[in-house]
Amino acid sequence: MCSSGGIDPDKLHREALVADLHCDTVLRMKKGFDFSVRDTSGQMDIPRLREGGVDLEAFACWIPGDTPLDSCVARVDLMLDSLHEQTGRHAGQIAVCKTAAEAEAIVSSGRIAAFLAIENGLAIADNLANLRHYCERGVRYMTLVHTSSHDWCISSADTSPAFDGLTPFGEEVVREMNRLGIIIDISHAGPAAVARVLAITSDPVIASHSCVHALCPHDRNLTDDQIAAIAKNGGVIGINFFSGYLDYRFNAIADSVKEEYKAEIDSIDALYPNDYGARHKALAWLFEILDEHQSQLDITIGTVVDHIDHIVKLVGPDHVGLGSDFDGVFAFPKGLNDCSRMPAITKELVGRGYSEVDIRKILGGNFMRVFRQVCDR
Ligand SMILES: [Zn+2]
Repeated sequence: MCSSGGIDPDKLHREALVADLHCDTVLRMKKGFDFSVRDTSGQMDIPRLREGGVDLEAFACWIPGDTPLDSCVARVDLMLDSLHEQTGRHAGQIAVCKTAAEAEAIVSSGRIAAFLAIENGLAIADNLANLRHYCERGVRYMTLVHTSSHDWCISSADTSPAFDGLTPFGEEVVREMNRLGIIIDISHAGPAAVARVLAITSDPVIASHSCVHALCPHDRNLTDDQIAAIAKNGGVIGINFFSGYLDYRFNAIADSVKEEYKAEIDSIDALYPNDYGARHKALAWLFEILDEHQSQLDITIGTVVDHIDHIVKLVGPDHVGLGSDFDGVFAFPKGLNDCSRMPAITKELVGRGYSEVDIRKILGGNFMRVFRQVCDR
C-alpha cells in the first residue's frame, strides 16, 4: 500500500541503506553476551537490527572521564575485542567495515555493517601512537570528549573551562585523525572546541549523536550557527533519540524522579560500578517510572523528525542523519524504544512529504558520503 506521494515507506526503508551513527551496545557485551539473541533488557541485538532494517550500526567504545590514563588503552582494547569476537562469531549476519566500499559490500551480501568507534578522546591517553593503534584495530570515528573535559579537549558540559576548546596537542590529534582517515566526532565537545576543530580539519566531521539547540536548549545540542558551520564543512549530524535532548521538559522530570529514588539508585550504582549492562538491568523499574512520566509530555517519533526538519530547513537535506544512542541513554520517544522501530522514522518522513531522494540521504546516504570521503582513499 502506498502512502503520500506514492512512496511506500516500508519498501523505501528496506531498500535504503539505513545507518545509525551511535549506540553504546558494546557496554553490554560482557562475558556470556550473545548479540544474535534478542534481549529486551537492552535496545539492540542482531534480530532487532534486522527487523528495524538497520544496515550500518556504529558501535561506540566509551570510556568514562575518570578512567586513569594508564588503563585507557586496555579498557578500549577489551571492548574492541568483544566487538571483533561478536562479529566473528556471527559472521553470517554482521561484519566489521573499515571503508564505505566495504560497508556497501557487506550490506549487499545481506549482512549488517558494524562500524567501530571510540567515544571519548581520553582513550588515546595523550599519545598519538594509541590513535594509530585504534585505527589499525578498525576504529573509524572518535568522539573527541565526553561529559568531562580532559587534558586536550573541553566538554560541552564544562562550565568553567581550563583552556580555550582545544590545546595545541588537541589540534595535533585533529590533524592526525585527518591523516589516518578517522572521522572526527564533535558530539559532546564544547563550543570553542567545535569551532577550533572546524577551523583546522581538512575533512568533514560528524556529530554522531546530537540534537538541535533551538528546539531543546541543552548543552549537548547544536546551535543554528554550529549547524550552519557543520554544513559548510560538509559534515553530518546524527539526531539523538534521547528524550532529554529532544524535549527539554523531560530533564526536569528526570531530575525529580532521580531525586525521589536517590537512595535506591545510589545502592545500585555501588553494586555495579563497572558493569553498565547489569546496572541498566537493575534499574529497569526506574526507567519504567520515567517512561510513564514522559508519556504525558508527548515526546514522539514526530519530535525526532521535528529536529530533522529544523536542520533540513536551515541547511538543506545533506547534513542530517540518525544517531540513536540506544543502550546509552534511558528514555526514548513513544514508539521508538528499540532499534526495531526505525521504520517509523521513514514513515513519518514520508508523511511529511519528504522526497525519496532526501529520505535516502537522511537514513544513511549523508553519512556514507562522509565515510567515503574520509576513509576510502
Ligand atoms: Zn554520548
